[in-house]
Amino acid sequence: MGENMVDTPATPQAVDRRRKTLIAKGYGMTETFKALVIDNADGNYTAGIKDLTVADLPDESVLVDVAYSTLNYKDGLAITGKGKIVRSFPMVGGIDLAGTVLESADSNYKPGDKVLVNGWGLSETMWGGYSQKQRVNGEFITRVPDGFSLKDTMAIGTAGYTSMLCVLALEDAGITPDQGDIVVTGAAGGVGSVAIAVLAKLGYRVVASSGRTSEADYLKSLGATEVIGREILDRDARPLEKGRWAGGVDSVGSRTLATLLAETKNEGAVAACGLAGGTDLPTTVMPFILRGVRLLGVNCVTCANERRDEAWSRLVHDLDVSKLADITKVEPLGRLPELGEEILSGTIRGRVIVDVNA
Ligand code: NDP
Repeated sequence: MGENMVDTPATPQAVDRRRKTLIAKGYGMTETFKALVIDNADGNYTAGIKDLTVADLPDESVLVDVAYSTLNYKDGLAITGKGKIVRSFPMVGGIDLAGTVLESADSNYKPGDKVLVNGWGLSETMWGGYSQKQRVNGEFITRVPDGFSLKDTMAIGTAGYTSMLCVLALEDAGITPDQGDIVVTGAAGGVGSVAIAVLAKLGYRVVASSGRTSEADYLKSLGATEVIGREILDRDARPLEKGRWAGGVDSVGSRTLATLLAETKNEGAVAACGLAGGTDLPTTVMPFILRGVRLLGVNCVTCANERRDEAWSRLVHDLDVSKLADITKVEPLGRLPELGEEILSGTIRGRVIVDVNA
């Protein structure tokens, strides 16, 4: 983004102008709407649905009429307080959102624009998507690409967008379908599922690594040619093993990623984005110095806007969203306190779209 797009702090006059504009447009400062508010008053961690007004929202440049958000593992940690996700209280949860611009002090957006936000500290340092209205920094907005509905973007969500970042990283590393198999770990999860669907559509031969062999048919329906048990990679590997993979998308980390690296062929590459199996990486330098293997870190939260736009527009072409329908369910805002517990206990299958207006 250019420097001319950086917002200057709002003056009291600007805030007053915005308030008058909102009232003129009917978004009264006293009209209430629902949001999931996380608080930690006197050390008592709570997450509950509260009534807010537009006047309560942060002083950011773009007011969004939120349609959908999603439920991610990180959201579960934030809702329950079982992980240190929230950095300031009170906080509106939800790491992503999709909706329609109601009012904008950022000249790049106008009322009616369809927009989404992934990451950028939503629900950590900035109020997030579990709210029927939210104000967000225009710098953090991605336009909903033509070809996707608001609901599509949240069916894909942060997990799916991260998968596309992994695929772009592999492409940039020169990994092409003719070079051999690509393994996707944590295959039945959000990142894994979308990675399989995209890679298969692009012509790669995809091997899915999953602890849920009961999901083999589903993984094959997404495009996996082969499904292997999680234990095949989740083991103590030697520094170098027989080269098997041209590349990989790893959302597991730890021994799984170490084995994947040891089994990666000459000049292969692995995109690493997750830690579902642990944060450690018990590997050696051997894959790197003897085979030229590349380990590609992927971080969706502060990824540059140009890369985000590229990822979302590629998803329009390279992902058949209808393939996600079987594993996507829609839940209302009011269920979030329970859903936060459920995702941490591993009882949720697939992707959860949060309809904030249901
Ligand atoms: P999910 O919970 O949907 O999927 C994770 C998958 O990992 C599970 O479905 C399971 O797949 C596998 N898994 C779970 N526990 C273990 C374990 N103990 N050992 C090995 N495999 C395990 O999460 P997401 O797909 O949304 O996210 C995946 C990871 O990526 C998470 O760690 C998340 O924090 C991270 N992430 C990182 C981002 C970034 O910017 N770097 C952005 C988004 C997510 P199966 O049952 O098939 O084995």
